[in-house]
Amino acid sequence: MTDKFTIAGITDFNKIQYSFSSRETIWSPDQIKVFDGEREIPSEYITNIGVKSSFGVITLTERLDITRKYTLRIDGIGERTVVPTSVFDTEEFAALYHYDGGDLGAHIEKNRTVFKLWAPTASKVVLNLFDKGEGGKARMSVPMTRGDKGVWTERISCSHGTYYTYSVTTALGTAEAVDPYARTVGVGGKRGMVVDLSKTDPKGWDEDLEFSTGISKYTDAVIWEVHIRDFSNRIEDSAYKGKYLAFTERGLVNRDGIPVGVDHLVDMGITHVHLLPAFDYATVDEKNPDNGFNWGYDPQNYNAPEGSYSTDPYHGEVRIKEFKQMVKGLHDAGVGVVMDVVYNHTYESDGAFHKIVPYYYYRYTSAGMNMNASGCGNDTASERYMYGKFMVESLKYWLREYHLDGFRFDLMGLHDLATMKRIEHAVHAINPEALIYGEGWDMGTTIDGSPRATQYNIAGISASYGAVGAVAVFNDVMRDGLKGSAFYRGSRGYINGAPYEGVHRVKFGMLGGMAYGYGWGVADAAVVNYMSAHDNHTLWDKLALANADYDIETRVKMVKLGAAIIMLSRGIPFMQAGEEMLRSKDGDENSYRSSDEINNIRWEALKKGSAALSTYEYYRGLIKMRRAHRVFRSDGKVNLGFNEFHGGALAVYFDSTYDKALAIINPHSEPIDYIVDGSWGLIADGFRAGADIIEWHSGNVTVAPYSVNIYVR
Ligand code: CA
Repeated sequence: MTDKFTIAGITDFNKIQYSFSSRETIWSPDQIKVFDGEREIPSEYITNIGVKSSFGVITLTERLDITRKYTLRIDGIGERTVVPTSVFDTEEFAALYHYDGGDLGAHIEKNRTVFKLWAPTASKVVLNLFDKGEGGKARMSVPMTRGDKGVWTERISCSHGTYYTYSVTTALGTAEAVDPYARTVGVGGKRGMVVDLSKTDPKGWDEDLEFSTGISKYTDAVIWEVHIRDFSNRIEDSAYKGKYLAFTERGLVNRDGIPVGVDHLVDMGITHVHLLPAFDYATVDEKNPDNGFNWGYDPQNYNAPEGSYSTDPYHGEVRIKEFKQMVKGLHDAGVGVVMDVVYNHTYESDGAFHKIVPYYYYRYTSAGMNMNASGCGNDTASERYMYGKFMVESLKYWLREYHLDGFRFDLMGLHDLATMKRIEHAVHAINPEALIYGEGWDMGTTIDGSPRATQYNIAGISASYGAVGAVAVFNDVMRDGLKGSAFYRGSRGYINGAPYEGVHRVKFGMLGGMAYGYGWGVADAAVVNYMSAHDNHTLWDKLALANADYDIETRVKMVKLGAAIIMLSRGIPFMQAGEEMLRSKDGDENSYRSSDEINNIRWEALKKGSAALSTYEYYRGLIKMRRAHRVFRSDGKVNLGFNEFHGGALAVYFDSTYDKALAIINPHSEPIDYIVDGSWGLIADGFRAGADIIEWHSGNVTVAPYSVNIYVR
């Protein structure tokens, strides 16, 4: 081995592509030799010899066996083990090895368990069984049998609670791996566990299947995004601080007697809680969760719940049961549950997927390096059949087993559009009420030429099975238009001092991404409109930085104005947990592994007479308003007419066959006047918001600084 080589890969059943340091050159085909053990395999043709080129393709006279270990030797360069690479993209590989069965993983069948693993490039697979989730030697190690399509099977008498791993031998040697299909794991996630799922159902779980969020289109939803630990760590009376079970607790109040936790959500009137990653992730030590914090964008086992949120991470069934209790707790409170899914990268580039089928599950450059559009060092390959299938099956499993109400896709713009289409189909076939949305950023990755699920392409997916929507994308144009760029501290937007600069972006957001430039052409208002999420500064911290020269009272008005605009917009209103109570992370703009202290929701902020409480009450009123007046939940059937005046102020007319509304938005520091036609019923201004008409206005109306008057008639 030498590091002059970067890759020697099997690209077809008789072809090997190599790549080496560009400082080297080879001049003769005689320098190049391929060996199967000691035996040399004659080559028929080699490209790029004698040219100053650091890669080439060898065509061999015989067919290669992708389970064997071959060696490429180039005199003057060195030698390297040959590994299957883009042979995975050939039609022949598809015909031979694409597996359609839904039975991968470990399934209990009467008194036996059937283990199935897809490992077409393996020459040997051994199943190891353990009594415990960590430590100790294997109770038993059994060679598995290779069958059709590269699937290895073992049927063995073992029951619920048995832990297992696979030792997989490929050209790269033998490595012990967790089953990617493992439905639960031992502490730390290094071993899968055989589980009888019927033992993990909480009381009343069958009836929970009847739960409905009651939405009939995406625009009916209101989403609140939260981290499981942030949610309850600072709820004094919670018996389950930082755990799944805190979502089952009711009747909790803070020192001022104001409802917190789930009661806060019920009172506020949101429709969905969106949980930051809750599948098993790597970096929080499950034995000592208090020693570290993480958001969880470091996936380890996609189909198992994270252990640090359970009361017992040592027994694999507990985390499943408590996750279900959490879902049921929220459902019983009338709140749906969306889970953040992070299929675009894994914690390790050489984790289970790579140990089982090296070079299959990830994207690589032609030099054999991991692609890194995610910034996490190992972009996965959704376009590869068996990874796309894994994603679909994983989502179906979470949906059916955990009764989830939707998914949020991290860096969705890295996934290929065709796979996201399959996902939309699969998810909505099970639950047509499920929300599907994600980060449709264009990450500039086009290695296989297939379109990605970006903001610009997402209109290519439509809703199937009469679903409530198709696939929605986060609207960063609206986000930054409202309060200034998330990435420049001083940058201001429509609500906080730069109304004229932000107004066209705000219109784009209010129209649900359908018009006014940007060319997304999103259908059915499939955008998520928001001001803040877990990334970047909290809204309150952003205003503290960008508007340090404004008093607190003014900044509070700005928050309320922004919230009102979000609630008037086509699309799905979304907020970071605590935005509604002026949440601060003390200026930390990337708190993914900061302290609990920084990340916790500070429920004590909800004090009588406080700005936090009045802001919260205003948000609650706006949600009530939006839910009561469907003219604001338009998916495109309500016509929005804009009258722009006074350097960025807007009069927005909502016109439908069933209802009419008017919003007069004043983003300026002085009151403005506007003459309305006829009589209009005020339902919200800068101080109050709700479903009902407060008073009637006609003729000349005055709108207070940084506020909006909202009318219906
Ligand atoms: Ca974990």
